[in-house]
Amino acid sequence: MRVFLASIPLENTRVVVIGSGEAALAKLRLFVGSPAEVVWFAPEGLPEAASLPLSGPQARQQMPDAADLSGSRLVFIAVEDEAEAARLAEIARGAGAQVNVVDRPALGDFQTPAFIDRDQIVVAIATGGTAPILARDLRSKIEAILPAALGPLARLAGELRDTVKTTVPDFLARRRFWERAFRGTAADLVAVGKPAEARREMLRLLNVAAPEAGVVHIVGAGPGDPELLTLKALRVLQDADVIIHDRLVPEAVLARARRDARRLYVGKTRGDHSVPQDQIEALMIEEARAGQRVVRLKGGDPFVFGRGGEELEAMRRAGVPVFVVPGVTAALACAASAGIPLTHRDHAQSVTFVTAQEKPGGIAPDWARLAGPNQTLAIYMGAGRAAETAASLIAAGRSQATPVAIVENGSRPDERVITGTLDDLGGLVARANLTGPALLFVGECAAFSAAQLDVRAEVAA
Ligand code: SAH
Repeated sequence: MRVFLASIPLENTRVVVIGSGEAALAKLRLFVGSPAEVVWFAPEGLPEAASLPLSGPQARQQMPDAADLSGSRLVFIAVEDEAEAARLAEIARGAGAQVNVVDRPALGDFQTPAFIDRDQIVVAIATGGTAPILARDLRSKIEAILPAALGPLARLAGELRDTVKTTVPDFLARRRFWERAFRGTAADLVAVGKPAEARREMLRLLNVAAPEAGVVHIVGAGPGDPELLTLKALRVLQDADVIIHDRLVPEAVLARARRDARRLYVGKTRGDHSVPQDQIEALMIEEARAGQRVVRLKGGDPFVFGRGGEELEAMRRAGVPVFVVPGVTAALACAASAGIPLTHRDHAQSVTFVTAQEKPGGIAPDWARLAGPNQTLAIYMGAGRAAETAASLIAAGRSQATPVAIVENGSRPDERVITGTLDDLGGLVARANLTGPALLFVGECAAFSAAQLDVRAEVAA
């Protein structure tokens, strides 16, 4: 270990920042919301008001002297002039402070690491001054997997500390309790902003000897590009014991999950039948009851043609704690990568997510409404019935010349965009030999796709 990171409590601590520039502001921003008493000297005048930290100390427009610095614990010096910086460092050190001199590590006592700030919980990355940009990159990676509500969780634990100590005197048993509490439903409740419920859950855990019940997260995996996972999805994936997934979730997404999580595949393979819905739900319940943290990972968003609603109901009926994490649905992702705005002030006042697949004996599509002008249709599971769908829309009054786009494997490396007009939708699909999931767009906005624009450019040339 080449550097040592100590942590300094900020209650009743005076922190001084000296300087008028961006570097001084960056230091001030570190302490916004902290209990430290921050004193700011801006001898060269104040920077533009717009760049000032929202809340924070008023600046004193003067150079501090020894008396000004007495009693301070940390002093950050962000002034241009090296001799001046050295002089200030000397005075600050004389006053008993630890000194940081921005950009001149040799003049100071410590360097500022890259921080991840979660209130009580602070993660810091130091590189001994060798690679600050690397530290910043590492910080974003760690930031992404840490729940936003870590601070409140730590605070709750702090409040219950004494109670837990008296209720569970045995050290090992107490450690097991905390492990269960931090990994369990209580932490999930804090994460969704329900501290009172979380507290109740922790107390329940404390007073029952029963093993902790598992939990189910019904998670939207997005369209396939792992970068389109939400931070929340990523976090629960990295925390999962069991992942129940189907065909729409590619390996690139699963690779972001905890490595030793058990993966259960419940999707179709070609020609094969997928696991029936009620068996999937039974599996989710069984795993959760065995105390597992279950992630039910679904392509796109779980509530858009994903049967996530049925799974949610089933978990509730079974009394299994359940949370839903939304995902980027295929229509949004395909539109983004194909360059098709879903609404447009001149062409589409609404967008409809619709499926061409009918449940046997279910509700028939309202063609008259779907054929209305000034709207974009995003048709899910539509490739198999493309010709019939186009015919129904045209019969109901949509123009034959309405632009259409087919996006196959949206957001994935093998994405394809095919464009044409509504009267040829069936033919376009047939000629495309689609092998991956495909979304159909119908409406004037489909003409904005990059593929369509290329065709127009060729025609014009
Ligand atoms: N819950 C999913 C939809 C599941 S239905 C979501 O919100 O996206 C399955 C249909 O979604 C597919 O038939 C296809 O029409 C569409 N789909 C899913 N992922 C897709 C992708 N990456 N590219 C194009 N279409 C996709």
